[in-house]
Amino acid sequence: PKIIVAIDGYSSCGKSTTAKLVAKQLNYPYIDTGAMYRAVTLYFIQNHIGLTNPKETEQALNNIHISFRRHAELGRNDTYLNGLNVEDEIRKMYVSEKVSDVSAIAEVRHALVAQQQRMGKTKGIVMDGRDIGTVVFPQAELKIFMTADPLIRAQRRQLELLEKGELIGLAEIAENLKMRDYIDTTRAESPLRQAADAVYIDNSLMTLDEQVEMVVRLADE
Ligand code: C5P
Repeated sequence: PKIIVAIDGYSSCGKSTTAKLVAKQLNYPYIDTGAMYRAVTLYFIQNHIGLTNPKETEQALNNIHISFRRHAELGRNDTYLNGLNVEDEIRKMYVSEKVSDVSAIAEVRHALVAQQQRMGKTKGIVMDGRDIGTVVFPQAELKIFMTADPLIRAQRRQLELLEKGELIGLAEIAENLKMRDYIDTTRAESPLRQAADAVYIDNSLMTLDEQVEMVVRLADE
C-alpha cells in the first residue's frame, strides 16, 4: 500500500536531499514545500508586496501559481512561478533572507497548505518542510524529524550555494540559518516542532546513503 512520508526539520539539515532520494527509491513523487514558500517570497520581493497588509497579501496570493515540472536534462524537479522556471532564483541568499518572514504570514500558509494537501490526495508521496507531519498530513503513515549540528548544516549550505556560483561566508550562512530556525520555531502560525509520532534522526554523523536507507527501511515496515 502507498503511504505518505512526511519529513520535517530545521533549515539545511539535508531533508530535501534525503527526501528526493527516498522518493526515487519508493517510486513516489517528491514535493519540496520550502520551494513553494521560496517562490511566494520571490513574488513578494519582485512585486514589492508588503508583509503586514492582509488584503494586499490575499490579492498577491490570488496572482501566484506554483507548479513543479521535470527538467529532463538536469534530472531534477524544477519550481515554476506563474509559468516561469525560478528554480535557481529561489535558492539565492536574498530570497533566503526574507523567506521565513513571508512564511510566518497566516494567509500564505493557508494557501500553500491547501495546495500541498491537494497534491497528496492520490497517496504515495514524499513531502518535506516544517509542518508536514503536524499540519499538512497529521495522518501521514511515516513522519521523520531531521536535524544536524548547526556548523555542519552551515557547511553543507555553503557548498550547495558554491555549486550554484554564490560564494557566501560561513558566518553569514550560519547567521541566516539561526535566524530562520528562530522565526520558524516561534511564529504563531504552525511553528516548526516535532510531531509526537515522528522518528527523530540526527544525521550529523551519517552519510547520505545511510539516511536514505534508514528512511526507506522505515517506509517499508
Ligand atoms: O526548506 P527550505 O529551507 O528551502 O525552506 C525555506 C523556508 O520556508 C524555511 O526557512 C521556512 O521559513 C519556510 N517553510 C515553512 N514551511 C514549510 C517549508 C518551508 O515555513 N513547510
